[in-house]
Amino acid sequence: MKIPTGPGDPPRPRRRGLRPRHLLLPSLALVAGVLSTAVVPDARGYTLLGFSLDLDQRDFRVHNNFSDPSANNNQSLDDDFPGYRGAIMAIWKAHVEWQSAAHGTGDGDPTQPGGLGSGGANFDPSFQGESPTPGGIDHNVHAEISGCSGGLYAFTEQPDAGGWRIRYYSCVEWADGPDGQLDPGEIDLQGVACHQAGHAAGLGHSIDHDASMYAVVTGTGVSLRSIESDDRSGIMAIYGSAGANKPRIDQLIVIGDELTVHGEHFSPGDNQIWFTRGGPGGDGYPVKATGLSSNGTELTCVIPPEAGKGDILVRRGATAYQDLSAARPSYLAETCFQPTSYCTTTPNSVGSGAIMSSRNMPSTTEQILPLEVDGGPPNQFGIFYYGTDQIATPYGDGVRCVGGGNLGVFRLPVLNLDPFGKVGLMIDWNTYPVGGGPGEWLIGDTWNAQFWYRDPTAGTAGFNFSDALSFTICH
Ligand SMILES: [Zn+2]
Repeated sequence: MKIPTGPGDPPRPRRRGLRPRHLLLPSLALVAGVLSTAVVPDARGYTLLGFSLDLDQRDFRVHNNFSDPSANNNQSLDDDFPGYRGAIMAIWKAHVEWQSAAHGTGDGDPTQPGGLGSGGANFDPSFQGESPTPGGIDHNVHAEISGCSGGLYAFTEQPDAGGWRIRYYSCVEWADGPDGQLDPGEIDLQGVACHQAGHAAGLGHSIDHDASMYAVVTGTGVSLRSIESDDRSGIMAIYGSAGANKPRIDQLIVIGDELTVHGEHFSPGDNQIWFTRGGPGGDGYPVKATGLSSNGTELTCVIPPEAGKGDILVRRGATAYQDLSAARPSYLAETCFQPTSYCTTTPNSVGSGAIMSSRNMPSTTEQILPLEVDGGPPNQFGIFYYGTDQIATPYGDGVRCVGGGNLGVFRLPVLNLDPFGKVGLMIDWNTYPVGGGPGEWLIGDTWNAQFWYRDPTAGTAGFNFSDALSFTICH
């Protein structure tokens, strides 16, 4: 993962020949052959490959080139895996099963409710989103590879301290299956990815039939999703048991562009917060806020602009394996606030005045903000408009509450109130107001919005205003 490789880059020299020694095998007949490649047999079931990943090799990405529709037919989001679906979510779940403690709520896999994050070792992976290419053999990327190889489903290329790559043969019918209910003939991507992630971390095959590191897939492979005591013993043998002194994230609070992490066992200085990179690309390395001081239980940083939805980890001011926390998922949106009302409405021809509201958070994750008005004159027309300033200036038959400052105000489309005096506008950020102009909604911006409407039978001016809403754009 150390050198970004794009389509135009020259091939990277390999340190050794291709050596796909870590295979998930479909039949018992081949187990002995595989076990002979394990480096350090142990009295326990597990075996070790003889290396540990460096601390800067905790990242993993997915190149989502899986060709079976069943590998990417899950379109449901999961709050513990924010922003990703399909094969990427399945592989994300596979990796965090190995982390030291529960990943968020630990939910997301019905075969182990609350149980994702079972490693108990000083080993905590960092999800780094989607890779536009399969990368090089030590770029820590999962990707499909075309073809078949006997009965082999997948393999881990050259795992060592400096990284790995995991390939999935295209002739296998891969399925993302978040409910764990696979059709006959399908093979579970999450289960097989969990097994391969164990190889990437330094584990060989186990002779324990219950272990995820057992060499043989039975059925669809769903049972491999949950690592067992022998797998935990193996990962602890490599990285040590996660002690009580390990840094821990308890809560994430985002206000505007600032993140505050509450937890335990942060160091006085030189803490780092690791983020998932937003969008595809990057080199696999986590986006980091560095050089952070702490009272031991709190860290604050400005969220780097490259950071996106995903996982957050804290590395305190030292570099042993035990100095990295378990990953905690985040939309970077924990404390988005509901829009708040301000200013005043004015009686109109039908009552005490039009009131504005919104049911959503102004979150870039939601990408939709409904603005609604009730109590207006039926069948009249009006517009929502927004701007940077809060004012209170009598105008027409009401009070104008939004000023434009240096930018002016921004008008949204003309709307008709319905026969009940209501109107709503779903603002889809994919179409409007995003667009790069001065009225674009960016994270951390505070905007104010109000509804202007015609009311010819009341007052003298023939138009009036609702009250107003103020909202701050959040992650
Ligand atoms: Zn294997």
